[in-house]
Amino acid sequence: MRALVWHGRNDVRVDRVPDPELLNPQDAIIRVTATAICGSDLHLLDGYIPTMQKGDILGHEFMGEVVEVGSGVKKLKVGDRVVVPFPIACGQCYFCQHDLWSLCDNTNPKAALAETMFGHAPSGIFGYSHLMGGYAGGQAEYVRVPFADVGPFKVPDSLSDEQVLFLTDIFPTGYQAVESCDVKPGDTVAVWGCGPVGQFAVQSAWLLGAERVIAIDGVAERLELAHSWGRAEVIDYTKTDVRERLNELTGGRGPDVCVEAVGLEAHGMGLPGAYDRVKQEVKLSTERPHALRQAILACRKGGVVSVAGVFGGFADKIPLGAAFNKGLTFKMGQTHVHRYLQPLLEKIEQGAIDPSVVITHKLSLDDAPDAYRRFRDKEDGCIKVMLRP
Ligand SMILES: [Zn+2]
Ligand SMILES: [Zn+2]
Repeated sequence: MRALVWHGRNDVRVDRVPDPELLNPQDAIIRVTATAICGSDLHLLDGYIPTMQKGDILGHEFMGEVVEVGSGVKKLKVGDRVVVPFPIACGQCYFCQHDLWSLCDNTNPKAALAETMFGHAPSGIFGYSHLMGGYAGGQAEYVRVPFADVGPFKVPDSLSDEQVLFLTDIFPTGYQAVESCDVKPGDTVAVWGCGPVGQFAVQSAWLLGAERVIAIDGVAERLELAHSWGRAEVIDYTKTDVRERLNELTGGRGPDVCVEAVGLEAHGMGLPGAYDRVKQEVKLSTERPHALRQAILACRKGGVVSVAGVFGGFADKIPLGAAFNKGLTFKMGQTHVHRYLQPLLEKIEQGAIDPSVVITHKLSLDDAPDAYRRFRDKEDGCIKVMLRP
């Protein structure tokens, strides 16, 4: 089959690789009909997430048709059309039983690696380095899906691939980032980063009852989408002092909920930005947490800072004193996608949201290497790429 393969830093190619096979009785093989490139894939592309190996197949946002099931699979059938959550969960362990699917104890075969880094291992993730289990991803014609009765979620034929594909990650991710903050009537939600996850955080803030939504980014097309589709007030950080503007907009108090949807490669301005880039280049720090710092300083006293952007290692100069003295609450983590599949599918069916709006580029899998580059460089208005194998 054809698949998007990581060869090294900034080197991904579409290669011919062996078709996946059933390895366990609970596996299924999915023929991928649609897949997407995620902002977090860019951290793999440039090698900032460690433990990538030459030959790894990328992609954790995919959907398709079941073409083969193992002898232990009971609910899923050949021919079912499904979306697949990016975290792999067993459905049986303490964490799965407590609705904490991305923390599953049984799906990371390289747990020792993650335990060294994190203390405990989170769940495995498709196509997301050996730290996350070394699973082959879904930017491919076919993919092996373990625990097939737990993850894959059947979607109705009345909805297009474009409408349901983002249930795999970015819609639940934006939603969880806001939902976990317990938004109250009258609250102002500010979102750093107007990439796809930020856009869904903006949408979710309205769905969850926010009174005002403010979106922050430095790319014109993204701000435009947050304004037109997201009905958000927008701040361009390249032109405006973000903290000053947020204070102006909130009577000096600061936003009640601050969502960080940027992650470990934030584009910092000025001296702190340059400092982060240098430290990351020489591997003294694995993160560039500029947006997170700003969110902490901007958040109102007693407010909530929610981290949806991916962090993988050690961050420097986080203003912990500000967080402590302002009595902030922190929410963060990989998304418990399984928890949100049914309720968010219902919102799509009801017409409360059309996730397909974020797609700016529909391309063939064969174009994936070029699409990665265009997405990374934010060329020709690229916000979200959908690929068809
Ligand atoms: Zn993703
Ligand atoms: Zn589990």
